Parts: sequence; structure tokens; C-alpha cells
Amino acid sequence: MNITPLGRLARTHTAGELTAEHVDQSVVLLGWVHRLRDLGSLVFIDLRDRHGMTQVVVRENEPLVDEAKRLRAEWVIAVIGTVVLRAPDAVNAKMETGQIEVEAREIRLLNEAKVPPFSISNEELPVAEEMRLKYRYLDLRRPRMQHNIALRHRATMEIRKYFDEHGFLEIETPMLTKSTPEGARDYLVPSRVYPGEFYALPQSPQIFKQILMISGLDRYFQIVKCFRDEDLRADRQPEFTQVDLEISFATEDIVFGTMEPLMERLMALIGKTAPRPFLRLPYAEAIAKYGSDKPDLRPGMEIQDVSAAFAQSSFSVFRDAVAGGGEVRGFVVKGGARYSRKELDDLTEQAKGLGATGLVWARINGGTVQSSALKAAGEGTIRRGLDTADATEGDLLLLAAGRHEPTSRVLGSLRLQVAKKEGLLDPSRFEFLWVVDFPMFEWLEAEGRYEFMHHPFTAPLESDAPLLEADQGRARARAYDLVLNGSEIAGGSIRIHDQALQKLIFRLLGISDEEARLRFGFFLDALEYGTPPHGGIALGLDRMVAILCGEPSIRDVIAFPKTAQAQDLMAGAPSAVNPKQLKELGLK
Ligand code: ASP
Repeated sequence: MNITPLGRLARTHTAGELTAEHVDQSVVLLGWVHRLRDLGSLVFIDLRDRHGMTQVVVRENEPLVDEAKRLRAEWVIAVIGTVVLRAPDAVNAKMETGQIEVEAREIRLLNEAKVPPFSISNEELPVAEEMRLKYRYLDLRRPRMQHNIALRHRATMEIRKYFDEHGFLEIETPMLTKSTPEGARDYLVPSRVYPGEFYALPQSPQIFKQILMISGLDRYFQIVKCFRDEDLRADRQPEFTQVDLEISFATEDIVFGTMEPLMERLMALIGKTAPRPFLRLPYAEAIAKYGSDKPDLRPGMEIQDVSAAFAQSSFSVFRDAVAGGGEVRGFVVKGGARYSRKELDDLTEQAKGLGATGLVWARINGGTVQSSALKAAGEGTIRRGLDTADATEGDLLLLAAGRHEPTSRVLGSLRLQVAKKEGLLDPSRFEFLWVVDFPMFEWLEAEGRYEFMHHPFTAPLESDAPLLEADQGRARARAYDLVLNGSEIAGGSIRIHDQALQKLIFRLLGISDEEARLRFGFFLDALEYGTPPHGGIALGLDRMVAILCGEPSIRDVIAFPKTAQAQDLMAGAPSAVNPKQLKELGLK
């Protein structure tokens, strides 16, 4: 078959829309050969485009049958034919177009294709991710990726519509700019016009969106790329997309009241609800109950303080931990009493791998109390521990001791591993919550200094203002994160709008006046010209869409992502540049 030009041929229908209502119509379909079945005197072609798949049949036409046999997967064809009902036993209820087929009168070959390096039609066959990323144009042809990209589009459109309806203006902010402090390394772009000087790509539009509030623009949003040159972590992208917003005269209630209905609308895209109002959990409580500032609420299994049961006991490990200011903490695995010796040993190893000095288990099995510390602690103490934690017949209690926060964090990670093992992370459930009252500062042990926890423009809780200078580590911020099923999907804060407080925060962060002037002088100046109280938030669009798509990796909802090693395998970036370009930039 020779390649023919498209000429004036236009498609009458997509490959996803023909039904029994179209029977007897003459149609033109344009698309790719998804699959070809050669039955001798009969050839079936599954024709694919973005909208779906249509079965084309070639029969009772010897020359056309012969031509069809020569087609190959991923060739681009035009089919001109008539819609007919399938025989009752050939109806495919799983396909939108499964009632019908198109009987071809003519098939034109529009283009051939090399044999693809992996199957487009059989998504079950495993393909290495490097191959998928190198041949992303083929990977994106696969129905799963087409679905993900389309859902991302729908989410994006819903977001734009929502903010427009609520009086937000979409405003673009510069990509070539000055550093924005979000705690990561900047990507720098050398200036050709000013040799030796650099732009930074924005880590977020943070300063610009605050300036827009100073400018009286009142409500801003933007779906925007942000760039952070962070150390490589499995599910991070050097460039990622945020839904960024800022609101003048904002309070927490206004920001939450803006985001919650938006979440409701996004969940509706996959037929789910998001019951409002979302739970608000102070950071300290999140750490205590779930050992995490992004708790997954689905499994329940709250971590509890059972120190009282052990404080006076003969079990020296726990008694001493409590005497030394620590706590005995643990959580209950419902029905976990059935675990085998090996499973319990594995849990202990996991806990040690997470940094616990040890793990003690206790359970009630057929009325008897059993525990790895039964001998040392005695039955009475173990029973008290089980009672305190509300563990009953058939339950397992996992315990660790030490300082409050590290012990909670270890148990929090173990809790998630157990929840996974127990199948308690139900992918069809969606649990939103707000984590609030984050600490203002985080102590960096290695550097012997405080760093901001969110960013340096975050306001302290009014009640904690006196702590700023008295006990900076205990001051809490008006910062909040929106968490969904254990992922931080959005984060933001009420901002500082007063220059004196902003200067104090810089000083507490060890940023000198000169340095602040150099880095954000323009912003400090702007703050002096009538800054309204304001606040905002940014939603990680990639993660949100991945959750909507049920994809564990954000790479599967980004058309052209980088690898975990920050490479673009398709385009081959980063790459060396030619010496002439370097010279122009004044670089060696
Ligand atoms: N700029 C912040 C971030 O990127 C979000 C915010 O505070 O609005 O995390």
C-alpha cells in the first residue's frame, strides 16, 4: 500500500463516538492501527485515536482484504466505510463503540511507523520507565496516559473556572527573576547582557503574589511552574506545577473556605465527595497521634501514650525511659494477635530500621496475655498497657519508648507499614485534613541555627508573638498544610504585613539587614506602602492529579517529566552547550 496524502479528507467522527444510532451512516475515521487480526478472508482492525477505539472490518472485498493485511501496528490510516451492527455474539459491552463496527470501503495509508520499542496496545506488558520516558511520544499514546492527561486537563479547567467564579484574577509572574526563599536551591540563568550576573528561576511566585496584594489586586491565582534544585528524591520534579493563590484581608477561615469547595469540585471529577468542613489538626497533635505532619487518617490506629502503665513497673527499659523524661507510646493493630513469630520479628526489625531502639509487642490471644516483655514486665503491667490502649481480644499492641517526638515518628512510619500490610489504605477512600499551627522555626542541628519551617514571610500566631524573642523554637506560625491520604497536597500561611515584624523574623533567621536588603530589598520597600493583611496557599497540581488518577508517581500525570535523576531522557537534557554560547555568556 502506498502512502497517500490526506488531501481534503476530513474525519466525520472520532474513534470513540459511534454507536447503534449511527448504523447505515457513511463515515470517515482517521487514526492509528491499534491491533490487527487477520482471519484469512476477513481482517479486523482496531482503529484508535484519543477518543477511543473502533472496530473496522474488511470483508467481501479481496483486493481490500489483501491491502489491509499489510497494515502494521501504529500505522496511520483513513477508513471510509459504513457503520453496521455487530453480530449479537460479537458485541463488546466494555467498549463505548462495542455495539457496532465499521465496514471499510476504502482504506488509505497516511503514514507508516517503525516497530515501536514497546507495545502500545498491550499495557499489561511491563516496560522499563526509562524506555517509557525516552519514547515518551509513544508512551503518551497508551490509553492509560491519554486518560491521565485528559483528567489533568479537566482538573485544570475546573480550577480556572472556580477561581474566576470567585473573583480571582489569573496573573502571570516572571520566570526570570530573583531568588525566592522556599528552602531549596535556585536554578540560575546567566545574563548575557550583564556578564557575571544571573537570574534565578522562581521556587514559587511567593514575593510577587504578596506584592500583587500590596498593589490592591485583592485575589490572585496562577497555575504556574516552579523550579527547585533539590536533592533527588523519588517523587520530586525539578520543575513542577502549583496552583498558587493569594487573598487580601485573609484569615485561615477564608483560605480554608476557598480551598475546601475547590477540593469538592475536583473530587467530583472522579465521582467522589469531600465532606466539609475538613478536620483541623494542630501540628503537635498530628505528630503525637500519627507521628507525621501529613497523617493518613484512613487506617485509624492512633498512637497513644501508655507511659502510666509502665512508669512504676519492673520493666526497666520502659521505666527508665519514662523516668528520663521520655514516654512509652504505641498503637493497636486490630486483629493483629494472629501475627506469627516471624511477622512479629519482621516488625521489630522494621522498627529498628526506622530508628527505634527496640519494639515491644503485647497481645491478648484466647484470653491470655502474651508479650515480648512478659517476663521482664509481668502480666499485670502488660495487661495495664493493653487496657490503657483499649486493646481487646485478638488485638496486637506495638510499643516503643523514648523522647516524645522521635518515638512518635518511628511509630508513625511503622503504623503506615502495618496499615499497608493490613490493606487499610483503601484507594477508594479520600481523607482530607488541615494541619495547622506549625512551628515557626526548625532547628538545624548540623548548622547550629534556626531555619524557617514554611518561608520567612509567614506570620506567627498572635498569641505566640512574645515567644519570638523569648523562646523562638516554641513559637508557632499561622501556617497550614492541606493533607490528603498522607500526602501534603497544599501549603500556605497568613503573611507578615508589617515591616518591623518582617525585619525581626529575618534577624531571628540570622539574615542581616544588609543581606535582607540585597535579597528582598524591593519587597521590604513595598511593604512600607500600605500593605493589607493577606494570606494564601499553593496546591501541588501534579500530586493532586496523580491522586485523582490513582497513580502513585507524579511522573505519570506529567506529559514530559524528568527522571528521579533530573534528566529529560527524550530530549537529552541537561546537555553540554557549545563554547560559543558559553563565551557569549561570559562563562568558562
Ligand atoms: N509559596 C508557598 C509554597 O510554594 C505557598 C504559600 O505560602 O502560598 O509552598
